[in-house]
Order: sequence, then C-alpha cells, then structure tokens
Amino acid sequence: MANPTIAIVGRPNVGKSTLFNRIAGERISIVEDTPGVTRDRIYAVGEWLGREFNIIDTGGIELSDEPFMEQIRYQAEIAMDEADVIILVASGREGVTDADELIARLLHRTEKPILLAVNKVDNPEMRADIYDFYSLGLGEPYPVSGSHGLGLGDLLDEAVKHFKDEAEDVDDGIIRFSLIGRPNVGKSSLINAILGEERVIVSDIAGTTRDAVDTAFTSESGQPFVMIDTAGMRKRGKVYESTEKYSVMRAMRAIDRSDIVLMVLNAEEGIREYDKRIAGFAHEAGKGILIVVNKWDLIEKDTNTMKEFETKVREEFKYLDYAPMIFVSAVTKQRLSQLPEMIESISMNQNLRVSSSVLNDVIMDAVAINPTPTDKGTRLKIFYATQVGVKPPTFVIFVNEEELMHFSYKRFLENQIRRAFPFEGTPIHIIPRRRK
Ligand code: GDP
Ligand code: GDP
Repeated sequence: MANPTIAIVGRPNVGKSTLFNRIAGERISIVEDTPGVTRDRIYAVGEWLGREFNIIDTGGIELSDEPFMEQIRYQAEIAMDEADVIILVASGREGVTDADELIARLLHRTEKPILLAVNKVDNPEMRADIYDFYSLGLGEPYPVSGSHGLGLGDLLDEAVKHFKDEAEDVDDGIIRFSLIGRPNVGKSSLINAILGEERVIVSDIAGTTRDAVDTAFTSESGQPFVMIDTAGMRKRGKVYESTEKYSVMRAMRAIDRSDIVLMVLNAEEGIREYDKRIAGFAHEAGKGILIVVNKWDLIEKDTNTMKEFETKVREEFKYLDYAPMIFVSAVTKQRLSQLPEMIESISMNQNLRVSSSVLNDVIMDAVAINPTPTDKGTRLKIFYATQVGVKPPTFVIFVNEEELMHFSYKRFLENQIRRAFPFEGTPIHIIPRRRK
C-alpha cells in the first residue's frame, strides 16, 4: 500500500530543504552515489517510529518567470493536493513575516492537518520567541532546528499521529503497474494500445482503486491488472503540472503505488537524466522493473541493432541488470501482446519464496567458489541464510561481523542467488546480520 505523504511548505530560506534532508535521513544507496541523482532532491522516503512515509519539499518545485507570491501559492496548492500532513516551516530568527501569514491563510482552506514548525531555534533560550507564531492560527508551534537536528522527534510524533491506520497489505491477486517515462516517449499510446487489445477486458473494480483515474483490466489469461495513472495522462491543467520536478514527483508517487514499473524509453532518444532518476527510485523502492523500448518501428535495423541498443542501455543502468527489456511499437503493435505475460512473470518472481535448505546450499557453493573476504586478519564467516520477505525478495544472512560483508561480496552472493532462482525483473535485498 502507498505510504502517507508529508509535504513541507514555507517561504524561501526558512530551512525547508535542511529539514527535508534531516527527515529523509542519510540512507546509503548505490543509486544516489551516481552524480546528479541527489541534486535537488524534492521527494524521498523517510521513517519514524517504524512508519514509512514519503516526504516532499515543495520549495524545490520552482516555476520560472513567476513572481515570488505566485510560487508560494503553487507550493501551498501542491501540498494541499498531494499531502496527508502538511508542515509549514517558519523561522524563529526572523519572527512572523507577511509571507508566513499569506501561506497560513492559503492553508486554512484545507481540512488536512497542518503542523507549524518554527525552525532555527538552535538553543533553548530561543524557545521564548516562538509564541508569536500562535498568531498564524495553526495551533501550537513546534520549535525545531534543522541544522542541529533538534525538536524533530516531537514534530514527527505529531505527524505520525495523523497518518491513517496502516491498510493491511492484502494480497488481492491484482497486479498494479505503471508506465513511467519522459513526455512523448509514448506512454499514452502504449496504454491505449494495451487497453485496446480485443482480449483485454476493461472493468470497473469499485473499491479496489483509490484513484478514479487508475484503470482495471483483465488479460486473456484471466489475470487482473490495475494500471496506475501517472503524470502526463491526467491533464488537470494546473500551472505547476508542466514543471519537470512536479512530473518527477508524480512519477514517484505512481511508482510508490505500483508493484511493477514499466520504464518506457524512446528508441530514438535513449536514456536521459530523468530516466536514471526514476529508475533509481523504483529500484530503491524494491519494485519490479521492465524496460520498455518504444517507437522501435522508427529505427533502421540490421541484425545487431537490438543487441547494441540493449548494451548501451545496460551500460547506463548498471544496477538494473535484472530488469528484462522489450522492444515494442505502440503504432505497429509489435510485441505488445507479450507485455501482460511479462508483467505477470515479474510478479511471480517478486513473490517467490525459496526454501532455506536450497538457499543455504547455494550460499555454501558460492563460498566454495569464491572464499569470503578478510579484513584486518578477520575472515567473514557465513552461518546461515534465510528468506524473510517478498516484494522484493529479502534475505537475511547471519554472519560473524556485518562490516566484513563488503559491497562486492554481497553483489557476488546476489549474482549466485540469481543464477539459482528465477528473480528476473525484481530487485533482491540482502541483509547481513551478526549472529548473536
Ligand atoms: P529553504 O529555502 O527553506 O529550503 O531553506 P534552506 O534549507 O536552504 O536553508 C536556508 C538557510 O538557513 C541555509 O543557510 C541554512 O544553512 C540555514 N538553516 C537551515 N536550518 C537552520 C537551523 O536550524 N538553524 C540555523 N541557524 N540555520 C539554519
Ligand atoms: P506520452 O507523452 O509519453 O504519453 O507520449 P504519447 O503517447 O502522447 O506519444 C507521443 C508521440 O509519439 C505521439 O505523436 C505518438 O503518436 C507517437 N508515438 C507513440 N508511440 C509510438 C511508436 O511506437 N512509434 C511511433 N512511430 N510513434 C509513436
């Protein structure tokens, strides 16, 4: 089920992005090591008291050529549209400003819970200054310091209280997927072509979808699917919807609600920064991934064209080596009939559970081929491995010292596990844990 969303709003320079980065935490990730990916982050996954949530820094969504007050208005609208809980940030150093009052007034229109965070309260003496902020009519102000990491616990405790009860992640047998890609790669054309297949039965499945714009259908094999709506297809015509960052954010929200993501590329254009960012997010979120190269009809081909294109894509998306790739055309319908089957197969793989005995045989064989690494005289010892979850398949490996499980060895074990079991299309997680 989708995570609840917190949106941060506030005038410039109050410390929104500082707070965002604090709350999002410093998750170590291979994807974010890629230069350019962390830059201007506006959407991330955070966790507090065991509850995962998404967090949006609306301040990062800028519209060029719009006056300051208009920018703020859009940011408040985005927060009201997208969030379950809104955090309005002000600055305890500057006190209440006209811009704070304007934003508070805009936010009064929404029924959604709003928390007022007064930032830059770096020491207890400054707490006396926050009482002026009651005048914004948003209740009790929370003193925080983004740069010192103070007061965030109380603020997040309160935010979490407003999350709706966690919906059980019931397995209803429906496969949820989305098509993600830059404008004009052919997402809408593909959707129409998939739904236009005569063997597909488009249906209303009241109660199973939250968003009316999602589409339910059943494939020839009887498998029910829900296609999740993404930015670009729903044209509500708001000004900010045309901005790139907003579209990235919408895509991330759609990914969050999907089991499987169809990364759509344009055969003529290849891969862009946007694609890397989105693919990285889907990978980190543990979603199944299928790379769909569309507009294949426009490419002049000889015998090696497909292979060459695939090599180029794989070079750019190294961490997605498990994702199958298919070359299609929404116009000629080439290979489109294979899509439901491929999605179904990825779904099976991401739900696969392997037996501990076979898994441990695979791990022991792996260790025999490639002995575990040593560090400062201590050798990594692997005692036992077990699968603890699906979607994505997650393995805990009990070891003597977690730190001895280097990235490259973990990668090697992952490859061996992949050779032994059909995990095509799904990331897998390996968690080393010290045996107590
Ligand atoms: P944004 O424009 O609202 O996203 O604000 P930023 O996060 O970019 O912060 C604006 C400035 O305020 C930066 O120079 C930050 O270093 C500073 N800042 C952010 N949080 C704090 C804080 O808690 N205390 C102090 N003293 N400065 C802060
Ligand atoms: P979206 O913005 O990703 O939803 O892209 P659209 O589905 O609106 O497609 C953008 C343009 O590409 C339209 O003019 C389509 O007719 C065209 N297009 C989409 N798929 C294909 C394809 O497979 N082959 C060719 N030749 N054109 C395509």
